Amino acid sequence: MAIELPKLPYALDALAPHVSKSTLEFHHGKHHRAYVDKTNELIANSDLAGKSLEEIVKVAAGKKDKVALFNNVAQAWNHNFLWHSMSPDGGSEPGGALAERMEKDLGGFPGFAEAFKKAATGQFGSGWAWLALADGKLEISATANADTPLVYGKTPLLTLDVWEHAYYLDYQNRRPDYVATFLEKLVNWEFAASNLQKASQRKAAE
Ligand code: FE
Repeated sequence: MAIELPKLPYALDALAPHVSKSTLEFHHGKHHRAYVDKTNELIANSDLAGKSLEEIVKVAAGKKDKVALFNNVAQAWNHNFLWHSMSPDGGSEPGGALAERMEKDLGGFPGFAEAFKKAATGQFGSGWAWLALADGKLEISATANADTPLVYGKTPLLTLDVWEHAYYLDYQNRRPDYVATFLEKLVNWEFAASNLQKASQRKAAE
């Protein structure tokens, strides 16, 4: 059973003008597809074939002989997560349990927004900005290249891709504008809230 490229959870033009149809065509149809194809090539005829994406990410992490596999499989996982972190109905602020956590751990939404913007714009070169649950607390971080909080025992709640391929067609070198637009128009708080809820349920079941 091969790893598959999932369909986008919205139409290619659904995030326009904030993220254009051409960006999504390339980003999902070319970049994400290449990570999936390369992963399948690298796991073919190995004991990893048939494992889930998340399992392969964890097996490959930190292994000197699996650097290429980690880069591709983690990028495949990160992009699956990215598409759901954005929504045509996104933006605004979270509510409920997530808002309460934010108040307690990050200084409310303004504290979140400031730290997230700093992480996303401050990541030198390619990478990702994250909101994750780490040791039961909300945490903002940035990772380089394909790296992901998943391999550090953290639970990702939300991400933004800050590789140039994610924004260059629409924003050229203006990464801060792309990050600000993500927070104002696209961020999918329902997705983040459902990830937090699942993590809380897992914790309660332990
Ligand atoms: Fe990307």
